[in-house]
Amino acid sequence: MVRYLEVVSQPMDVVRSSLPNADLLELEGIDQTEKGIVLRVQSKETPRCPACSSSEVTYHSTYVRHLRDLPWQGRPVQIQLKARRFRCRNRQCKRKIFAESSLGVVTRKARATNRFAQSLRMIGYVLGGRPASRLLERLGMKASRDTILRRVQKPSAPETETKVRVLGVDDWAWRKHQKYGTMLMDLEQRHVIDLLPVRSATSFADWLRQHPGVQIIARDRCGLYAEGGRKGAPSAVQVTDRYHLMTNLSEAVEHTLQELQIEARAALAQEASPKSCKRLTLVEARYHRCRQARYERYMAVMELGQQGYTQLQIAEKVSVGAETVARWLHAPGFPERCIRSDRRRDPARVLQDEERGLQPALTRTHFSSARVTALLLTPPRELSVTQLRYRDSFLRFCPTAYNVRRLALQFRAMLRWRRSVRLSEWIEKAVGSKFSFLAQFGRTLRRDLRAVELAMTAPWSNGPLEGHINRLKMIKRQMYGRAGFALLKARVLPLSA
Ligand SMILES: [Zn+2]
Repeated sequence: MVRYLEVVSQPMDVVRSSLPNADLLELEGIDQTEKGIVLRVQSKETPRCPACSSSEVTYHSTYVRHLRDLPWQGRPVQIQLKARRFRCRNRQCKRKIFAESSLGVVTRKARATNRFAQSLRMIGYVLGGRPASRLLERLGMKASRDTILRRVQKPSAPETETKVRVLGVDDWAWRKHQKYGTMLMDLEQRHVIDLLPVRSATSFADWLRQHPGVQIIARDRCGLYAEGGRKGAPSAVQVTDRYHLMTNLSEAVEHTLQELQIEARAALAQEASPKSCKRLTLVEARYHRCRQARYERYMAVMELGQQGYTQLQIAEKVSVGAETVARWLHAPGFPERCIRSDRRRDPARVLQDEERGLQPALTRTHFSSARVTALLLTPPRELSVTQLRYRDSFLRFCPTAYNVRRLALQFRAMLRWRRSVRLSEWIEKAVGSKFSFLAQFGRTLRRDLRAVELAMTAPWSNGPLEGHINRLKMIKRQMYGRAGFALLKARVLPLSA
């Protein structure tokens, strides 16, 4: 007998325990309908007047609320909640009639349980409107994308504002080179705290005034945030962000290497004897033919331009794209074609080898500056054999790069080991060097010296913030750029319950 009871009561217990708030609700029955499963449920709370919290109440009436709940095995579930109304018998109380509260299960006037609404919001937050709508339909929680997006954007209950002590600030692009916004992050708690639709010193300063208590601001080296920080939180210490320092350094190194490569190729071409230039290789001859034809087109464009034709007319006459016409008309001189290919052998080198009676050597004279930069800035023990070979063949081709590498590694070591003692010395060395881009980098460091020194010694970096900016880009692209600011912000800020 006992055994039989156990078997029968178990499934009902399981159903009871799966109700949104098992302590508050009592299960009356289960129905299976075409649309799904219906759970008939009633509150077992002792009624209390919400105004005077008196329990002296009498029954008034009953009404039924139909609430969507989480599905069972992909089948939709509806909760039919029988809610009662009561009269308050306290004479002093202004409230005459009140309905049972169903705190924790559903909010007032809602047509779905809280846990259903939260799941909808969470899935919408992660996936965005339309993909979430598709997934939810398969799960048995059909909802339109508008409903989902409305849920995602719905402001959550105001949290007790935690004070930010260490603030990271950086910009993100609405549209590159055109329009930027600002992202703010709590670097201690490691979460995004706000998103501003614009990038300006005033908006950042205003934000800081509204959120006092910021002690450290980690920013890039763009002057806007520095100025905003000085205005909005004059007492805060500003730290240049290590991530940007490293990025700026690699950019400077990359440009320097580009310059050095061009110089090295020019030197090589000069070495090749001018006599041999009479016998052009096929490749060289084709190159010259193409260049000549391009030069003639360029001259025709310039002539028509001086005669006062519009850019479109010139484009039609010379059969050149309108954009090219515009570029040529504004160029200071005949723009030589850039060699894009990394693998093409330098004609000068081939000629030189032929003259010496050698087989044309397969030495490279074009290297990807970005790749070489990355290899030069990485400690050798972390490089693979192929990478080392690539790096060494570059250094053989362009030995001046050894000096660039030494400078860059010294800077990197200062960042790595958090030592700023030799910073000024390094800056002087860079500024005095013959590498114009590194010198420029050194000069900008000198202008912002205090913040750069702190960047080396302080533990704060905007690396996590950059990660969130990448996430923002992904969200923006997922929504094909149609996301308004409110929705973008809702999906970038952390989801609160
Ligand atoms: Zn009352």
